[in-house]
Amino acid sequence: MLRLFLAYYRPYKKLFILDFTCAILAALLELTFPLAVNKVVDDLLPSGNWKWILWSCVVLLGIYLVSAVMNYVVSYWGHKLGINIETDMRKKLFDHVQKMSFRFFDNTKTGHLVSRMTNDLMDIGEIAHHGPEDLFIAIMTLLGAFGLMLSINWQLAILTFVMIPLMIYLSLYFSGKMTRAFKRMFSDIADFNARVENNVSGMRVVQAFANEKHEIAQFAVNNGRFRQTKLIAYRIMAWNSSLSYILMRFVSIFVLVCGTWFVIQDQMTYGEFIAFVLLSNVFLGPIKQINSVIETYPKGIAGFRRYLDLLETAPDVADTPGAKDVKNLIGKIAFNKVSFGYENKKRVLNQIDLAVNPGETVAFVGPSGAGKTTICSLLPRFYEIEEGSITIDGIDIRSMTLESLRSQIGIVQQDVFLFDGTIRENIAYGKLDASEEEIWEAARRAQLEAIILSQEAGLDTLIGERGVKLSGGQKQRLSIARMFLKNPPILILDEATSALDTETEAAIQQALTELSEGRTTLVIAHRLATIKHADRIVVVTEQGIEEQGNHEELLKTQGVYSRLHQAQFGAF
Ligand code: ADP
Ligand code: MG
Repeated sequence: MLRLFLAYYRPYKKLFILDFTCAILAALLELTFPLAVNKVVDDLLPSGNWKWILWSCVVLLGIYLVSAVMNYVVSYWGHKLGINIETDMRKKLFDHVQKMSFRFFDNTKTGHLVSRMTNDLMDIGEIAHHGPEDLFIAIMTLLGAFGLMLSINWQLAILTFVMIPLMIYLSLYFSGKMTRAFKRMFSDIADFNARVENNVSGMRVVQAFANEKHEIAQFAVNNGRFRQTKLIAYRIMAWNSSLSYILMRFVSIFVLVCGTWFVIQDQMTYGEFIAFVLLSNVFLGPIKQINSVIETYPKGIAGFRRYLDLLETAPDVADTPGAKDVKNLIGKIAFNKVSFGYENKKRVLNQIDLAVNPGETVAFVGPSGAGKTTICSLLPRFYEIEEGSITIDGIDIRSMTLESLRSQIGIVQQDVFLFDGTIRENIAYGKLDASEEEIWEAARRAQLEAIILSQEAGLDTLIGERGVKLSGGQKQRLSIARMFLKNPPILILDEATSALDTETEAAIQQALTELSEGRTTLVIAHRLATIKHADRIVVVTEQGIEEQGNHEELLKTQGVYSRLHQAQFGAF
């Protein structure tokens, strides 16, 4: 883990060296004060040499000024180093999440992800900065102070040193406990972020069911758990700070008693005694320092572990080695003995064969849950098939880059997802560099022009989160406009009009018909009237593809399709 962490310092070598050097210098300069006092008390004080005493003060002042500059550098540039590393990690995590597959998002809570990207990395910058520095300085200061103490009075120095292993053991013991406590705390925070996210985005349902009390009770459970974990963490911290405090004070008293004894025995001068007491304080500094950051360290480490967990989760759909950018597909699609299931054991599709010609419109019908949506999500490789192969224009989709594949498939779904922002931004999502004219053209073809013109802000109208300020039909038209801009050779319409009333459906149907012109189109439709004129109709049931043919052919065979048709339109 340490090696993985150190890798993040690589781009900031210079900053790190600067910070590190200044920190060490500042720490070493701290050692000069006890020595100066020793000199003043033992040599200068008895001789009453004022001039020299003043001179040593001036030198000390100079040293402190240098030290102050060093401290500034450590404090500002050191934190800059930490923030840089934190930013890099956050970017890396965000980039990684973009690559994760649908399967990952099926099984991951939004709140958890948000938590990992924000809260969990919050303390990383702190330890990236203080981590190596504190550790190194602690060792340097310990050694430096110990060396000077040895040179003053080695017996007393060794007696004092005996206390150190105990203190270090204590620190490590508590730090381990804290790391575990903070890891639990982060997972609690993630849980309640997920709860809040779920509650807020489902608020319309909550209030429609008048289930606020239930939600409040559920939240109280999460909140209570978080409180409990946090209290545990603070209890550990309190034990740690009290125990190490008493140990340190014990050392001070020990030095005081033994030192006095050595002075009485004439084995130590007053100056040496004072210097020793001061040095023993410097000596205890690193331990105090470690104790004061014992909150940050375990937090940072716990966050880093969670960060690594996610970063090391490889996406299960990714570009294969040697994948090619395939441009200008014409849209000849073939499924060859394709099998697939979401959960390990349960197959949703079994040995599916299907061929679609370029420009053809193929409609999928059948009972809900039969696997129509699944067939269509395999084409852009949202999920990886288990057996068989899918080809477009004869090329296996696994040998294309995901980007080139997906940029040539357009999907219009029943539940449109729109981003918080303006109409313009949402249409242009289909082509990020679209010009004003292109956006208007797309809007016009999607029958959206009149709606936009009726808005005071026009294209700059804000549509609210997920487009809540638009009606279902308007949202659908917006997603169609987006598709006109994307202009893919292959189009998937997954129950695009199912949620709309018949009147709106008719209007949108017109836009969809225009959209599907000249493209290979896969349509999933609930209402059979909308797909009557499809080139081919494929009937999908739990058994797989049951029948295919055009409307008239299928009616003649008196199979599933004709039964479905009868159910929707009555006898014919
Ligand atoms: P259709 O579109 O024909 O109504 P789907 O393709 O959506 O059917 O679903 C086929 C089967 O796969 C259903 O049993 C459904 O429960 C299951 N399913 C769909 N999506 C997922 C998913 N993301 N994870 C697990 N199971 C899923
Ligand atoms: Mg479906």
